[in-house]
Amino acid sequence: MLSDFPYPIPEHGSEPYWAACNDRRLVMQRCDACRKFRWQPTPLCTFCADENFTWATLSGRGKISTWTVVTHPVHPAAIDRVPYVVVEVELDEQTGLRMLSNLVDVNPAAIKADARVAVTFTEHQSGQMLPVFRLTDV
Ligand SMILES: [Zn+2]
Repeated sequence: MLSDFPYPIPEHGSEPYWAACNDRRLVMQRCDACRKFRWQPTPLCTFCADENFTWATLSGRGKISTWTVVTHPVHPAAIDRVPYVVVEVELDEQTGLRMLSNLVDVNPAAIKADARVAVTFTEHQSGQMLPVFRLTDV
């Protein structure tokens, strides 16, 4: 059942990220010292170890770096969802800034490396908005 599908629980410093998702915004921590974005949320910059950062809104645009099509449900709640696409997106804001998500509304045979994608949000039955990506032309 969809209501049983697991989803991330906001905790350990990720609360602002999930709150922004509920406002349909994709945010990440940006180091106040070196100005680099980092993913996933961490207390210290993964580039320079500075502890000061700002939650910054991203464009939500990027390109596919890799993906996989899941055809075997690895969780009982996924039985009605297969096949689905897990995608790694490199975001436009910074070379190497990558996040995992799902690619939705797509024929898996049409997916190509470096294809342009844009974030959108889907609602989990808990009410938490989840970031997913769609193919786009720009
Ligand atoms: Zn830094």
